[in-house]
This record gives sequence, structure tokens and C-alpha cells, in this order.
Amino acid sequence: MSELRELLERHDRVMRLLLEGEPVLGQEPHLAGCPVCGPTAAKLAEVARWLLEAPRPRPGLLRDVVERTAARCCSAEERP
Ligand SMILES: [Zn+2]
Repeated sequence: MSELRELLERHDRVMRLLLEGEPVLGQEPHLAGCPVCGPTAAKLAEVARWLLEAPRPRPGLLRDVVERTAARCCSAEERP
């Protein structure tokens, strides 16, 4: 397997793990050297820290957002 192909496969694997929220243990060298995965991992870690610090939403907020969003984007015939 060519070195480039191996790098691209590793990149795809690491990016998939990052976006799925899976641990990327052992991938530190790739994260340190990849101009896409490293910043993505840093941004996702920042979001995770932000979510830990954010105040807890009131009960029912998610339901209200979904209902109002659905009401705005779908006509009555399109809603389930
Ligand atoms: Zn990468």
C-alpha cells in the first residue's frame, strides 16, 4: 500500500472517529500532523467543554424547539 493511500485511510478513520464521538486513542501522531483532524479535534473538545459549562436547559425545551421548527418548515400535509 502506498504511503499516501495509508495516510488517507488513517485520515478517514480518525475523522470518522472524531465525528462519531469515539475515542481516538493511539492516533496522537496523526492529530498532531494533520491540518484537518488536529483542529477538528480541538474544536470538538472546545464544544464538549462548553456543553459541560452550559446551564441545564429547562425541561421540555427540546420538544418545544422541535415542534416550532417543524411548524415553520413543513406544511400541514407534510407533517406526520
Ligand atoms: Zn486527518
